[in-house]
Amino acid sequence: MRDESYQAFHRRSIEQPEAFWAEQAQAIHWHKPPRTILDYSRPPFRKWFAGGETNLCYNAIDRHLDERGDQLALVAISSETGQTVELSYRELHREVNTFAAVLKSLDVGRGDRVVIYMPNMAEAVFAMLACARIGAVHSVVFGGFAAHNLALRIDDATPKLLICADAGMRGGKVIAYKPLVDAACEEAQSPPPHVLVVGRGLDPDHAIVAGRDLDYATLRARHDGEQVAVEWLESNEPSYLLYTSGTTGKPKGVQRDVGGYAVALALSMWSIYDIRAGQVMFSTSDVGWAVGHSYNVYGPLIAGATSVLYEGLPTNPDPGIWWRICEQYGVRTMFSSPTGIRVLKKQDTAWLKKHDLSQLRWLFLAGEPLDEPTAHWITDGIGKTIIDNYWQTETGWPVLSLMPGLDLQPVKFGSPGLPTPGYHLRVIDEATGLDAGPNEKGVLVIVPPLPPGCMTTVWNDDARFLSSYFSHFKELLYSSLDWAIRDDDGYTFILGRTDDVINVAGHRLGTREIEESVASYSGVAEAAVIGVHDELKGQVPVVFATLKPSGEQNPALAAAAMQQCVVRQLGALARPARVYVVNALPKTRSGKLLRRSIQALAEDRDPGDLSTLDDPAALDEVRRALDRGA
Ligand code: ATP
Ligand code: MG
Repeated sequence: MRDESYQAFHRRSIEQPEAFWAEQAQAIHWHKPPRTILDYSRPPFRKWFAGGETNLCYNAIDRHLDERGDQLALVAISSETGQTVELSYRELHREVNTFAAVLKSLDVGRGDRVVIYMPNMAEAVFAMLACARIGAVHSVVFGGFAAHNLALRIDDATPKLLICADAGMRGGKVIAYKPLVDAACEEAQSPPPHVLVVGRGLDPDHAIVAGRDLDYATLRARHDGEQVAVEWLESNEPSYLLYTSGTTGKPKGVQRDVGGYAVALALSMWSIYDIRAGQVMFSTSDVGWAVGHSYNVYGPLIAGATSVLYEGLPTNPDPGIWWRICEQYGVRTMFSSPTGIRVLKKQDTAWLKKHDLSQLRWLFLAGEPLDEPTAHWITDGIGKTIIDNYWQTETGWPVLSLMPGLDLQPVKFGSPGLPTPGYHLRVIDEATGLDAGPNEKGVLVIVPPLPPGCMTTVWNDDARFLSSYFSHFKELLYSSLDWAIRDDDGYTFILGRTDDVINVAGHRLGTREIEESVASYSGVAEAAVIGVHDELKGQVPVVFATLKPSGEQNPALAAAAMQQCVVRQLGALARPARVYVVNALPKTRSGKLLRRSIQALAEDRDPGDLSTLDDPAALDEVRRALDRGA
């Protein structure tokens, strides 16, 4: 099977989906085999592996105990606290069982929701796996979110329990979590009856609400070493909830299943990430994001690999920290984001050369467009193959990628590559609703049924699932809400969000195309391009950019150079009408540019839902720049 070419493998997944996925399903343990591989009786809702019974925690841990009980399962490194925790599969099994016993003692069981609000620490992983073990539905809320966001997610999930750390740390500063939890519980309509606090000794004097708050260390001591039986779940029961980044509006609560997710992850681990049992994967993501769920926790463990988790900045204690981790643990596949790499790009390139990266084979980057200059910089810098992969919280695993585990298809800079197995993709012309031709722009869609691993619905809101994703075309198609182009070789290029398209005098331009061009000017660190209303042309492109410390510092000269790049590469039509040089760009907590808010300010409108904004100061920067004028 693994001698099959990518092309043949993908074709088979589309032409004979049931046979294909039945075969992939053999990679995981089923307590009871599926009755039906695909139940598609209620489109676009679908059930993979209906009637089958399995468990994510069993597949991630128990199944490996005989063969690799003493192998490292999880390494949690914190450059903030200076601590590293290493656990073998056997040790992880013990911790997760203990955690599960604590959950059970609090009357948490199958189908109950548990909100987890913790930084990237080992206990966050224990908590997730413990929920999975007993069939509780976790909803991990990224630790950087403020009380209000947490309250919104509490009310959406109506949890029986909230698990938090006393504090996180960022850049050496302690960030107390517990007061945020207290405030969120106060604000929420349906606060959890219990809050379980995992103390790290960072904020030992936090307030305790009697009768509600519980100390994990105390309960852990009471239940240490207890074994908790695995709860066998029907393949389509919910495993967890996770919210999208909120880049385009109010975040959507993605609901994931059990069996389909496990099967998709197992397939992706070897075919995309080229990781087999015993090998090491290091993802720099936070457990609070989709990447963290799939490739810091469930994917590597289901594969019997070692997962490396990291808490800290990419530049702390120095900008070589990621590469030192790769050297120390013999990382084979690393996973990060373009934002992360752009942070390093502002540092001396020598940091990329300091460590022995002979074990490292691949660096995967996902989450937002990987601009070509950044891709070249990191490819040359570490001398490894950089693989851009495209996916969404909704899909749970890559939609577009190269698949070195099958055979390495050629890298095309600027493109996340080819459809991964099970994804039947089309590019649809918005005006006609028909397929766009090669090299023609359109909306990237997935032909349903969505493959295993993708969301089953929006939590508690089937109507939003249908209206958000399936209501855009006459045909029943899942809209990615991203704009794309497919070249003659079948490589897809993502041009930006469908609502980020700029319409200049009737010509439709992707923000991504212009950003890419602006970033090709060597003085630019990062750029956001938005369309601003214009009486004459409908819309004009406007640039907000940050400069590299090493390049041109005169804003007017830098702006002129950026405009020249765009005119030269894309034509006079795309010429940015204005260029604003700023010190920071507003982003979501997951590191995505908040173009809609920049655009709103530029058009003198309300910036909209800012619940996932990372740094309010960056939005003030934009306001000030607009007041100042370009
Ligand atoms: P929301 O859906 O709430 O507006 P979001 O779309 O940013 O937020 P995520 O699921 O975190 O939430 O991000 C998925 C989106 O990120 C994709 O739809 C796409 O726009 C962008 N993206 C992810 N990977 C890539 C990539 N490799 N290249 C280009 N864009 C990417
Ligand atoms: Mg989205």
